[in-house]
Amino acid sequence: MKILLIEDEVKLAEYLRKGLGETGYVVDVAHSGVDGLHMALQGGYDLLVLDAMLPGIDGFSLLTAFRKTKQTPVLMLTARVSVEDRVLGLQTGADDYLLKPFAFSELTARIQVLLRRARGTQETKDPTVLRLADLEVDLMRRKAIRAGQRLDLTAKEFLLLTLFLRRHGEVLSRTEIAAQVWDMNFDSETNVVEVAVRRLRSKIDDLFEKPLLHTIRGMGYVMEERAQ
Ligand code: CA
Repeated sequence: MKILLIEDEVKLAEYLRKGLGETGYVVDVAHSGVDGLHMALQGGYDLLVLDAMLPGIDGFSLLTAFRKTKQTPVLMLTARVSVEDRVLGLQTGADDYLLKPFAFSELTARIQVLLRRARGTQETKDPTVLRLADLEVDLMRRKAIRAGQRLDLTAKEFLLLTLFLRRHGEVLSRTEIAAQVWDMNFDSETNVVEVAVRRLRSKIDDLFEKPLLHTIRGMGYVMEERAQ
């Protein structure tokens, strides 16, 4: 799940980016309305967290422009408490509100609700349970199960497994995996992806008869069920 955070307070933005990253989301940050709108319109985000008070284009104007073409859920952050502001925000197309200051747990709870709601409306396109052979990932409960056994995965491993399952049968390169799961472009010297894939494999495949995650030498990895 990829989130765009538009917040000009650098310290707060960094704190939220770190926290949401640890929760398992991939987070991009924009520090101004102009950058934020540009990035938001490029698409590819599952949710926007949008500060109302921004330099350049404020949150409300940004949202108005964004809603002309995009239906991505938007959670607005605001320090203002007036009813008029909230009404304006909701009319502009915010899906929910959070008043500053807020607890981090409150933010993640609201994000989960919005993502779940969005998923509900596109249920058939985007199922909440992904399956391959006896491996199953429940996106809503954030649970991975193989042959009836619950797998103990870290947030990154869960994200990695979700990517492989969503695109099973497709060979994914290390570069693409790095971009999707870490939202980074690793230089070719780092082996972050290899290490993570090895750890994931030890959890999902090693204890089971039939391996599902395969290495394609020189190309990357593919998740698929193979006849033995
Ligand atoms: Ca602000």
